[in-house]
Amino acid sequence: MPAGTAGNMAYPFYHMHSEGFWELVLRPGMESDLQQRPVTSMTRLRSVILGAKITQKLFQCITDNQCREQLRATLLHTYFSPDVQPILLRDASENQEAYEYSQRLLAAAEKAMPYAAAEDRPRQVRDQAFRKAVMSLYMHRCALCGIRMLTPDGHTIVEAAHIRPWSESKDDRPVNGMALCRLCHWSFDEGFMSVSKDYEVLVSPMARAEQNNPGVIMTLEHRPIFKPEEDHFIPDQACLSWHRRVVFKT
Ligand SMILES: [Zn+2]
Repeated sequence: MPAGTAGNMAYPFYHMHSEGFWELVLRPGMESDLQQRPVTSMTRLRSVILGAKITQKLFQCITDNQCREQLRATLLHTYFSPDVQPILLRDASENQEAYEYSQRLLAAAEKAMPYAAAEDRPRQVRDQAFRKAVMSLYMHRCALCGIRMLTPDGHTIVEAAHIRPWSESKDDRPVNGMALCRLCHWSFDEGFMSVSKDYEVLVSPMARAEQNNPGVIMTLEHRPIFKPEEDHFIPDQACLSWHRRVVFKT
């Protein structure tokens, strides 16, 4: 694959299905459908294929660090152009670092351990880790309005929002975050929405001021927010209090 070509996760499953790494398990009656039309998207992949059964040999290989690294290098050199390879290696290492950092954020919250700001980490690693942690807690549901929408490719309507922005708080704890849809995220950051001491949605009187037509936002007022089930992941009242004091437009 040369540089500048858009790929998606469906390609390797389809195009490498005869390379001996795995066996695709088709949905019943989909054999002829697969022969007639190629798979070019995740939606199509999911509509014709149930899953992939990896071989015992591949399974053993990916559970071994050294073998896995060799496999990774071979795949990279075989299927990607030389100018793309270093970019993919960098992305893979960032993804790995972000995953580990997100696990640490969740573990620290779970055990109520002190949190050290990871200012030395690159911004993209921090952002990705915070996002991973918050998304897993809210399961892609907006904390304020409850909307949850995902595409077959895994694109989600919600974003991971800091309650106290990182620039000001240096705080990536999951309790300083909420998953918010774009409308609620913007409204929260602009101070049109906040969260009360009792975890209810607050809507600023400014939202309906002058030429505004806040629509659905007004129906959310005083409704309980959607929050993680476990107490140690629920938004921190100290962070929310800061938001009510500093950002919320009263
Ligand atoms: Zn929302």
